[in-house]
Amino acid sequence: MKIRINCISCGHLFDLTDAYQDYEGPVKCWICGEVHEVKIENSLVKRVGPVQKKQLAEEQGIV
Ligand SMILES: [Zn+2]
Repeated sequence: MKIRINCISCGHLFDLTDAYQDYEGPVKCWICGEVHEVKIENSLVKRVGPVQKKQLAEEQGIV
């Protein structure tokens, strides 16, 4: 079953692999590069939203 994310920035639909069927965290749109905070349970997308810049920096170890 395909997991589809609708990019909040460019509006493009992009697919995620089965590795994301239970996942919570950042996902990057490969078309425009926008990073989304997503929550996926049993291949169902529960939440898609923008990542706070500060939070993203912490996850990448910049701060
Ligand atoms: Zn995009």
